[in-house]
Amino acid sequence: MKILVTGGAGFIGSQFVRASLLGELISSPDVQITVLDKLTYAGNISNLDSVAHHPGLTFVRGDITDVHLVDALVPGHDVLVNFAAETHVDRSLLGAYEFVATNVLGTQTLLDSCRKHGVGRFVQVSTDEVYGSIEQGSWAENQPLAPNSPYAASKAGSDMLALAQARSHGMDVVVTRCSNNYGPYQFPEKLIPLFITRLMEGRTVQLYGEGNNVRDWLHVSDHCVGIDLVLHHGCAGEVYHIGGGTEMTNIELTGRMLDAYGVGWDRVEYVSDRAGHDMRYSLDYARICDELGYMPSIPFEKGLVDTLDWYQENRDWWSPLRGSGDFSQ
Ligand code: NAD
Repeated sequence: MKILVTGGAGFIGSQFVRASLLGELISSPDVQITVLDKLTYAGNISNLDSVAHHPGLTFVRGDITDVHLVDALVPGHDVLVNFAAETHVDRSLLGAYEFVATNVLGTQTLLDSCRKHGVGRFVQVSTDEVYGSIEQGSWAENQPLAPNSPYAASKAGSDMLALAQARSHGMDVVVTRCSNNYGPYQFPEKLIPLFITRLMEGRTVQLYGEGNNVRDWLHVSDHCVGIDLVLHHGCAGEVYHIGGGTEMTNIELTGRMLDAYGVGWDRVEYVSDRAGHDMRYSLDYARICDELGYMPSIPFEKGLVDTLDWYQENRDWWSPLRGSGDFSQ
């Protein structure tokens, strides 16, 4: 199987590529992967070091909005998995142009090319943030979209364009929407690696508002197992939620990280809340469990300790990223 993986040098995309090439997924036997990645500040070619010499990997540096490049690369692939995106909510609040360009226009560029060249399946990787915020209960896959941040709005736009291709043109598109990921190789502007790296350096961490926002956490390797299941067994034109079953407030999560480093709450600064900060995300992910046999396998307690250890052992990976955006705060 030949898979074109866009954004394959980022946090989740690189996990999918490594797991595919190292024999951990259904896709693995005889898989050939082409990674198309622009290598923005969030993309890192060293995320693919462990598979760099694998004969099944080809890396192309380029932009998913580049129609000519995309049109040259797409033919011959059986599947496209689209991870490429601008992904940081805080950055989208400072300026949304790149989010619309990559997430909306870039996705449409990929869809057009896949349809033109008859690619067998298009997997659009998306997020729970497209639904907005929910006080109680959990969202089903048919929940109307109500995004609040420019990031979430651009992801909602790309999801709907992907599903429109299925409905208008009968294209084989599946959409996955996942909760918050954590694990190795996550760019240290996101909450868990940002807090870990700052605590490791003896610095303070900054908590938005009162820290009562609730997120569901899922290890990145479980997310990729879910994507792989949908890629192989999902129904065309459908949406699948991929959840972790580990909801907690940001303050509880912060407490766990402080405990892990044996430091106290004096290392926490409370800062004014993020604009439009969603209070709670919660996906009902029964469908992928019942229909495709998905189940998250890494308990949060273990996954968090493993992640702390990884950042401890891989300073060489994250230290050079100092100075990029929020990470420099
Ligand atoms: P990331 O920011 O770590 O990686 C994004 C990758 O896309 C980078 O390698 C970057 O270089 C590449 N990229 C950006 N713009 C590009 C362009 N125009 N052309 C080609 N490549 C480009 O993101 P991530 O956390 O790995 O997220 C991957 C996908 O999963 C995104 O679509 C995101 O919306 C979705 N998602 C993420 C989470 C999460 O918690 N991180 C949760 C649910 C869904």
